[in-house]
Amino acid sequence: MNDMTRPARIAEMLEPKSVAVIGASEDLTKFGGRLFKLLVHHGFEGQIYPINRKRESLLGIACHTDIGATPTPPDMAVMAVPRDHVKAAVRECAEAGTKAAIIITAKFSDAGEEGAALEAEIVEEARKFGMRLIGPNCLGLISPVNKLVLCASPALFVDKLLVGRIGMVSQSGALMATIFDRAQTRGVGFSHCFSIGNQADLDLCDFLDFLVDDPATDVICTYIEGVKDGRRFLEVAERARAAGKPVLAVKAGRTDFGAAAAFSHTASLAGSYEAFAAACRETGVVLMDDPDAMIMLAAALTRFDQPKRLETAILTTSGGGGAITADRLTDWNLPLASYAPETVAALEQYYYPDNAKANPIDMGAAITGGSMLVGEGSAQALLQDTASGIVLCPLTTAPDMRLLCECIAKGLASAEAGGARKPCLVVLQPGQAANKARAELLKHGLFYFDSLDEAIRVIDGYRTMQAMAGTRADKGGSPGKTSAEALSGALDEARAKAVLADYGVPVNRGVVAPDAAAAGKAAAGLKAPFVVKVVSPDIVHKSDAGGVALNLGDAQAVEAAVAAMAARLAAGHPKAVIEGYLVQEMVSGELEMFVGARRDPLFGPVVMVGAGGVLVELLKDVAVRLAPVSPAEAREMLLGLRVAPLLKGFRGSAPLDLGALADAVSRVSWLAHDLGDRFGELDVNPVLVGKAGQGCTGVDARLLMNDK
Ligand code: ADP
Ligand code: MG
Repeated sequence: MNDMTRPARIAEMLEPKSVAVIGASEDLTKFGGRLFKLLVHHGFEGQIYPINRKRESLLGIACHTDIGATPTPPDMAVMAVPRDHVKAAVRECAEAGTKAAIIITAKFSDAGEEGAALEAEIVEEARKFGMRLIGPNCLGLISPVNKLVLCASPALFVDKLLVGRIGMVSQSGALMATIFDRAQTRGVGFSHCFSIGNQADLDLCDFLDFLVDDPATDVICTYIEGVKDGRRFLEVAERARAAGKPVLAVKAGRTDFGAAAAFSHTASLAGSYEAFAAACRETGVVLMDDPDAMIMLAAALTRFDQPKRLETAILTTSGGGGAITADRLTDWNLPLASYAPETVAALEQYYYPDNAKANPIDMGAAITGGSMLVGEGSAQALLQDTASGIVLCPLTTAPDMRLLCECIAKGLASAEAGGARKPCLVVLQPGQAANKARAELLKHGLFYFDSLDEAIRVIDGYRTMQAMAGTRADKGGSPGKTSAEALSGALDEARAKAVLADYGVPVNRGVVAPDAAAAGKAAAGLKAPFVVKVVSPDIVHKSDAGGVALNLGDAQAVEAAVAAMAARLAAGHPKAVIEGYLVQEMVSGELEMFVGARRDPLFGPVVMVGAGGVLVELLKDVAVRLAPVSPAEAREMLLGLRVAPLLKGFRGSAPLDLGALADAVSRVSWLAHDLGDRFGELDVNPVLVGKAGQGCTGVDARLLMNDK
């Protein structure tokens, strides 16, 4: 039976009746020793079959010489045997009827071609029998819900595993164990965690897919290094969104801006990370840049309601701690709350009027001094405040931090009894001085942060979720028709503009002329002033080469400019093939923008827009989305740019034609979409944007079509 088409029954794998540990020992310095010990230690309720030829029993459990010798075929096997023994072990398991095996052993496709070939053979071996594989080169899985630990990380030598409603899939084993440990220390538990290694058989999307349907999981977290199948990722993410299960992701490679752009700016500015980010944006996946912050956002999402508003109330014990927090929120452009009148009235029981409406609320400034009543009452009042969405408690050292945390936990409980499940994010800033406080919060089932930064990243994550909320965007229909078959290779400005014009993207008029005299004549059919540009497959950056002449008043000026340009190019670029000169109309505009598109190998066409001209490279101020986008989505892209204030009208300058630009971006995105896999890359740079009502015009363009 070839099982490629059989869905991965990961749910079954997590509830095996029996597990074989191949290479089990009592030696905790070895993977097999730790795997076995941890499986026993965390109370797995099924049968455990240690496989070890040399021992009768291990930790009091009877050993077996091989898989064939176990009383029943093990449902699941985990192996940390030397690489050269893996294939035989997999075959034995498969023949015995084992449903799935985890291969911890490394040095397969992670270590070159020979390893990759061996890995492929192993997968084939397993598939012949319909057995599924996790790994190789992984750290296994941890399923606190099922008391199933098939992971050798020393981080798991703890008394108890916290059960939570967060499911995690990680492409790095060590990172998974680290995240798990840090989370558990701070009161955050998981449903299941999977380290997926080389994904020889079961891959990232299989596990995400499982978690979407898993009743024990409310929030999905994933650490990704590379997605294998972009379309499947989009499908799974879409399914999670439909199921109302947030997916949070951290992806490595954010700063890998790709090698120097081969053809276009778009290729370097909308590289693979940006395409992934666009895929996340499209499907509502919350992309974060820090794994711990990701887990803490997941913890907050499982513990509290998602805030309806981002205004944050700060409750603290120190003026300094509060002030730093307020600054930090402001740095992140996150709003500080002004409380509702009822809240201020409630706080006035404990504080002088000025202090009662302050944000931060400093418990140290209470009229009666710090007391049980003040802590609990302040927390409750802020948690019930209707003008804020989040309560952030950065706690510095205080005379009795434990008591303070008890007060906050009680305030939270009272507020929650009233039905409000507003996020209450407690940051314990001291070191050991807060240990009792930490224990107190955990006792009340409340997790805590160690650093202010992480808490702020969580609030930022809420903001991202808020921005993506709502129903899927209506893309409308394609605004044009294209005959892609006719196109191939790199298209120069005039040809690229013709394609753009078919899609209603506004471009200026122009005519290609072979020489100076013809250029002068061509000007007669156009409106002055004119611009002349060299047409040459060998000159990509025309102005750098002296191949652009602007602001030419009449036909004579055009003729003279072409003659001068020809002489200049002959001297500076003697080898360049000059196909002619493009005479075009000069356009006036207030701002140069950049619109581009690229076909990402994983996620398909992406569209980008950003500050254009020389600012492209300097500012890297770009927005990238999967194509197509509607004009409304394009508008959102524009409003998220740093140059947005210039488009909207800045300090008395007139607002620009945002609507026309958004429309052009949408049209470009449709073009990229409709050209299908023949489409390579497109740069329209610059698009000159006029004042509101005056439109925008693409005055330079390059299009690269893939070969048929
Ligand atoms: P390249 O990018 O190959 O150097 P462009 O065609 O973009 O050449 O021209 C360089 C610059 O000249 C543009 O960024 C823009 O500022 C200006 N420019 C080019 N064509 C026009 C035009 N038709 N109207 C107004 N300005 C133009
Ligand atoms: Mg240009």
